[in-house]
Amino acid sequence: MGPPGSGKGTLSSLCVKHFGWYQLSTGNLCRDHIQRDTDIGKRIKRALDEGKLVADDVIADMIKQWIKSQDELPRGIIFDGYPRTKTQAELLYNFLQEALEEFDLILVKLHVDSDLVLERILSRVFCSNKTCQTVYSLLKESPMHPKASMVCDKCSSPLVHRTDDTKDTLKNRIHLYYENEQDIIDFYVRKGMSVGMINGAQTVQDVFNDFKKLAQQKAYVC
Ligand code: AMP
Repeated sequence: MGPPGSGKGTLSSLCVKHFGWYQLSTGNLCRDHIQRDTDIGKRIKRALDEGKLVADDVIADMIKQWIKSQDELPRGIIFDGYPRTKTQAELLYNFLQEALEEFDLILVKLHVDSDLVLERILSRVFCSNKTCQTVYSLLKESPMHPKASMVCDKCSSPLVHRTDDTKDTLKNRIHLYYENEQDIIDFYVRKGMSVGMINGAQTVQDVFNDFKKLAQQKAYVC
């Protein structure tokens, strides 16, 4: 969990690289549906453009479709940007309970001040190549700065801004995050879990090191 720009996507990609987990990003699923102009894509485009949350039932349909498309569930999944509401938290928990004999669910929160979040997002760009999608920062001092101006280090495709990374949309997205955060945490705490807290303002490597420690201790820290 964490507001937009807290580093969920970056942390997720490190988990994919180092642990071989699968990154299930509902934001990426949404953008993929919009790009393919599917029925779901047509229904959700406006919500994304305006920085609003997509309805819980539509998110549930997208995840069901994704599960159906898998031969078997990956052994490790990092949920990136999901759940974002208490209803989604309940659905995920109930689904895991019904589908699996055993599971470990770890909840980790990336804490970053709103000023830094704004700065990060407004300078965020990503590779336009659909199979690459590497994220970069245009902040000069950032280690995620691209080597050449607006070109991907890995595949040389052009870098682009996300269409919803604008000042107006962001206010909505940050507000919606904080509106739902406590309800989601409360739900999982009631289920006997605690929330691992990470300072998301640190370097990417330090965030990942803290994450590894929390994952080893199963994040039962607060
Ligand atoms: P993200 O890439 O996680 O920042 O998500 C981009 C946009 O996709 C959000 O602003 C929402 O419009 C939509 N979205 C992504 N995940 C969810 C979710 N779990 N629930 C509702 N809307 C979502």
